[in-house]
Amino acid sequence: MKIGALEAGGTKMVCAIGDENGKIEKRVSYPTQTPQETIPQIMEFFGNEGIQALGIGCFGPVELNRKSPVYGYITSTPKLAWANYPMAGTFAKALGIPVGFDTDVNGAALGEVVYGAAKGCDTAIYITVGTGVGVGVYANGALLHGLVHPEAGHMLITRRHGDTYRGKCPYHENCLEGLAAGPAIMERWGKPAAELADRKEVWELESDYLAQAVANYILTLSPQKVVLGGGVMHQEQMFPLVRKKVQEKLNSYLQNDTIQNHMEEYIIPPALGDNAGITGALLLGLQEFGKLAVR
Ligand code: ADP
Ligand code: ZN
Repeated sequence: MKIGALEAGGTKMVCAIGDENGKIEKRVSYPTQTPQETIPQIMEFFGNEGIQALGIGCFGPVELNRKSPVYGYITSTPKLAWANYPMAGTFAKALGIPVGFDTDVNGAALGEVVYGAAKGCDTAIYITVGTGVGVGVYANGALLHGLVHPEAGHMLITRRHGDTYRGKCPYHENCLEGLAAGPAIMERWGKPAAELADRKEVWELESDYLAQAVANYILTLSPQKVVLGGGVMHQEQMFPLVRKKVQEKLNSYLQNDTIQNHMEEYIIPPALGDNAGITGALLLGLQEFGKLAVR
């Protein structure tokens, strides 16, 4: 069986062909320009492959309510050329196949639950710390949508005393993305995050902000695994810091063996690495086709 996968990002569109076992056989990537420029390239790629379904993990915000007249649209994105663009419908119409559609991070969460670090969990979260911060939530055996979809990268957090950086988010003075995503690190410290590897104070502050949010996600969603990925998390020295700080912030309130004694198995990098998103998109296609047992 041939399934198409599209990881639609603000910078690039990754297109892949895979099978019902999650194996990716072929992949290409196009820079994200305007829909007029980029969609025909993607369409040409998939149009020639004879795929039976397509899954799209998409940057957002997006509309996931199937009853809405704008289901499958990218809605209010700051990438203006893509605002109000009917992403799922355009492909469903042109290719005449089922199209699964969800946020990029929900897709990645699904990938990690089915094949990766959260395999077998019925509730788990996937957090990406990259150009932005995004959180995908798989709860009680299904991807969480709710009113809109989780936007937990914008969780409001308490600014560390003495951190005078004004924050990068145009909406919130002190949200996680604005204080801790890659561009915020660069602006606060004057260098790209990757070049700050040996600056202890950078990762101490960064892991503190991440730990605040992760503690809140744990208290709210009760995940069985917390998968922490994205470009910034290539700084692996942060994992032990985040684990320790989460424990400190929870302060033994949760009398749970995993939280108290096995943090190294609980807050973990994605097992699919940078493939979590595209594998998740493939699974969204399979799910829409009715071939995936998890919802
Ligand atoms: P995106 O979020 O755009 O999908 P990434 O997850 O790769 O892409 O995130 C890009 C961000 O990650 C950039 O802000 C970059 O500075 C940061 N980044 C990339 N590699 C590293 C690294 N090795 N260490 C720290 N930060 C990194
Ligand atoms: Zn924000």
